[in-house]
Amino acid sequence: MELFQTIQSSDHEQVLYCHDSATGLKAIIALHDTTPGRAMGATRLWPYTDEANALQDVLRLSRSMTDKATCANIPVGGAKGVIITHPEAKTDALLKAYARFVDSLGGRFVTGQDVNLSAQDVRTMNQITNHVVGVHEKGGGPAIATAQGVLLGITAAVEFRWQSPTLKGLKVAVQGLGNVGQALCHYLSEQGAQLFVSDLDSQKTAWIQQRYQATVVPASQITALDVDVFSPCALGGVINQSTLPSIKAPIIAGCANNQLANTDRDAALLKQQEILYCPDFVINAGGLINVYHELIGYQTARVNNHIHGIYDTLLEIFNCARDTNISTVEAAQQVASTRRIQNQHRTA
Ligand code: NAD
Repeated sequence: MELFQTIQSSDHEQVLYCHDSATGLKAIIALHDTTPGRAMGATRLWPYTDEANALQDVLRLSRSMTDKATCANIPVGGAKGVIITHPEAKTDALLKAYARFVDSLGGRFVTGQDVNLSAQDVRTMNQITNHVVGVHEKGGGPAIATAQGVLLGITAAVEFRWQSPTLKGLKVAVQGLGNVGQALCHYLSEQGAQLFVSDLDSQKTAWIQQRYQATVVPASQITALDVDVFSPCALGGVINQSTLPSIKAPIIAGCANNQLANTDRDAALLKQQEILYCPDFVINAGGLINVYHELIGYQTARVNNHIHGIYDTLLEIFNCARDTNISTVEAAQQVASTRRIQNQHRTA
């Protein structure tokens, strides 16, 4: 593999390979953009089958963090970390070894919890480095804030598509009942939406079924349900050439990162199929907003206000996509690029 070429083509500043013999740590940290002074992005622990997959994942995720921060009006660049191991192999020693690498970057990289890391894991890392967020779980923590942002995103999409101010009676299919998916089900149920859910873990589906009278759907069928909103809240790549022809939901709005297997191709297909897609890096910014406020001094009202911006930004993106006949992903990239230029002028 031509590593420099890979890094160059994804326009990254720096990629660190982290290895620790004592704990067996293997991790990659990708810094896409530190020009605002620091780059933020959570760390994911995943049993990648090979290093090339891990590199591809970390590069893609960190790149989209830059657009996420810009669209959410957060003055940081994008980054991401991945620890390559099985969740069962996670130990405090391994997390501390990783934290030493984070610390060695002197604050250019600030990280937190993503898939397979918990708030407790972040606190363990915090024993070694101050450059972690989500330690105090302010406002319920990033997953709650992400779910609040997704709810606002669904509300914006429903408003734009059907000029309706309410989610009452809408059928919503939620794929993945993890930290965010469960909180989202709670908020949707409060709004009177009808829930259809799937997860690989039957205890989670049983809990949500019982608590919110949700209909449990086999994992293989959730993408093709005849519902108003499909909400991908599990892993990436769920919108792809094989799922797209069977997707019936007129709106896709969920928290998962990198929902499109191939960004340009799948964004164009979604447009062709007249599916209103909420770009993942815009709708799922609630968690980043929440932890960013931990860095600058947490005030609940300010955080709520900031998260509410997701609603306005999505409406701006939908209007831009409609008026200029482009996909919502292209519109989101345009909005990000315009905001980046405005920020540069402001700081010049
Ligand atoms: P999580 O690990 O708590 O939950 C993921 C859930 O998805 C698990 O319950 C898992 O069993 C389920 N799942 C996995 N594959 C599935 C499949 N094929 N079908 C159905 N269910 C499946 O993760 P989370 O924190 O809830 O985050 C979910 C997604 O949102 C991830 O892609 C994450 O990167 C993204 N995200 C999370 C946050 C946050 O604040 N936690 C913020 C932004 C983006």
